[in-house]
Amino acid sequence: MKKTDGMGNRSAQREWDALLLCVRRPCILCGRTPAGGAGIWVPTSDYDRLAVRAPRGKVRLVVYPLCQPCQATPGVYDRVEKAIRAEFVVLS
Ligand SMILES: [Zn+2]
Repeated sequence: MKKTDGMGNRSAQREWDALLLCVRRPCILCGRTPAGGAGIWVPTSDYDRLAVRAPRGKVRLVVYPLCQPCQATPGVYDRVEKAIRAEFVVLS
């Protein structure tokens, strides 16, 4: 196994903690609690990157709770993006 430095381990632990916390929250689409699953959204448009305060040249990931029944529905990722964007308030 490849060794990683302390910085990488802290970052991986922080990401893992965020994921564990997220799966205990209500599903972003139906409210089932706990969601028991999660997804990751990568904002790519300028508006979305501004909304999640992604520094220039960096990627900011959005982890969200998503239950298995919702994961199996058609168009789930479009609805997830719409739900996430509904939380945005961007003032410039
Ligand atoms: Zn759901």
